[in-house]
Amino acid sequence: MSVNEQNIRDIVKEVMAKLQLADENTGSQRGVFSQMDEAIAAARESQKIIRRMSMDQREQIISSIRKKTRENAEILARMGVEETGMGNIPHKILKHQLVAEKTPGTEDIKTVAWSGDRGLTLVEMGPFGVIGAITPCTNPSETIICNTIGMIAGGNTVVFNPHPAAVKTSQFAIDMLNRASVEAGGPDHIACTVAAPTLESSNILMKHPGIQLIVATGGPGVVTAVLSSGRRGIGAGAGNPPALVDDTADLRKAAEDIVNGCTFDNNLPCIAEKEIVAVESTVSELMHYMVEEQGCYLLSAEEADRLASVVLTPKGLNRKCVGRDAKTLLSMIGVSVSDNIRCITFEGPKEHPLIAEELMMPILGVVRAKDFDDAVEKAVWLEHGNRHSAHIHSKNIDNITKYAKAIDTAILVKNAPSYAALGFGGEGYCTFTIASRTGEGLTSAATFTKRRRCVMSDSLCIR
Ligand code: NAD
Repeated sequence: MSVNEQNIRDIVKEVMAKLQLADENTGSQRGVFSQMDEAIAAARESQKIIRRMSMDQREQIISSIRKKTRENAEILARMGVEETGMGNIPHKILKHQLVAEKTPGTEDIKTVAWSGDRGLTLVEMGPFGVIGAITPCTNPSETIICNTIGMIAGGNTVVFNPHPAAVKTSQFAIDMLNRASVEAGGPDHIACTVAAPTLESSNILMKHPGIQLIVATGGPGVVTAVLSSGRRGIGAGAGNPPALVDDTADLRKAAEDIVNGCTFDNNLPCIAEKEIVAVESTVSELMHYMVEEQGCYLLSAEEADRLASVVLTPKGLNRKCVGRDAKTLLSMIGVSVSDNIRCITFEGPKEHPLIAEELMMPILGVVRAKDFDDAVEKAVWLEHGNRHSAHIHSKNIDNITKYAKAIDTAILVKNAPSYAALGFGGEGYCTFTIASRTGEGLTSAATFTKRRRCVMSDSLCIR
């Protein structure tokens, strides 16, 4: 095996970072416990410290987390791709940088006040306590770091039950978060987990009396489990975002934006474009730009059916295909393409399994609609009532408004790639937990707080 200089540099960098992060005394990772009960007890102790800290002290911990996330972005990206086999390193680096820069901290915690003849009333945002968080394998460390920043800003600590397929990456991130806290003068164990997370440990977490709020980020199974747990829960569930293109769109830009969004981290983000619904008059020109300028491979009808039988099994998604790049997916059906191919496309009915299912692969089926109203109807059907994300390319504000009302999603991006919704090439903050099912939308520190009214009657109004 030949090892080039860049490989050696990468390995040395990774080993150095791991050594730096390894616990000097025990060699174990901070925040990782053998039993869920122990993890919750440790997070409870650290929460007692966090809730007594000033907002300024909490902000210092968050600054330290941001710094360490930037420093470790490449390592976390590499680990995520190596462990899960999903996504790609350059895009995962960008995702970590985005989390470090744009996840809201304590500035998100705002007090509301009424003052008048009868005194002063405040509504202040207080911590829940210890939060139980269940995280996906698609954005493992991104979600853990983003959740922790928001939860700490709100005065909570957190116990994670990460996806078993991303356990090493998740534990590495949790260790990093605790080191960031200790270095900034905060407590250890602001984020905890178990050595071997399972569905059983997830159930213990969901039912434990020491947990005051559950935040689940993942597919329909976990969100339903959380909502059936009898506890207060925030559910960030699945999506199947359609990108609608009407006859007023800049079709060349629409093709570029949609393919950029769809191929970002090999289509792993839940907000990413999963299919296109295009008004009839736009289809051939749009697909021309996608194929000729944006690196899309055009499948024949027979290849589309063959690909469907590979990526979807009778039991559901073939996990070996999720988050893989277009070239790898095509090689699975015996089609060899150049490195320039970054996406797969074909025209088909909305019921085609490659279109109707949430695949998390760079496959963009195009559904033809006879007019705008038909396009809206088809897009709403394809979103399956998840109320998660949808996108539109149009210059007609009446059409945009009509679509927004009909599809009623937590996110609607207009004339940009889907990732603009996360503050990447768009305004606004970043999150990797979009609470579509329970309605909080894009979560942030304020989401992880409870409102408390504090009333002073007939005093302290100095107007
Ligand atoms: P997944 O549902 O397989 O797993 C998510 C987490 O839930 C994991 O920790 C898993 O161990 C746990 N889990 C699954 N079923 C469970 C059950 N019955 N009881 C308790 N825990 C359970 O999802 P994934 O493959 O890791 O991630 C992809 C899915 O998550 C996609 O559907 C995607 O749209 C969604 N997602 C949503 C958001 C969002 O913010 N709304 C963000 C990322 C991913």
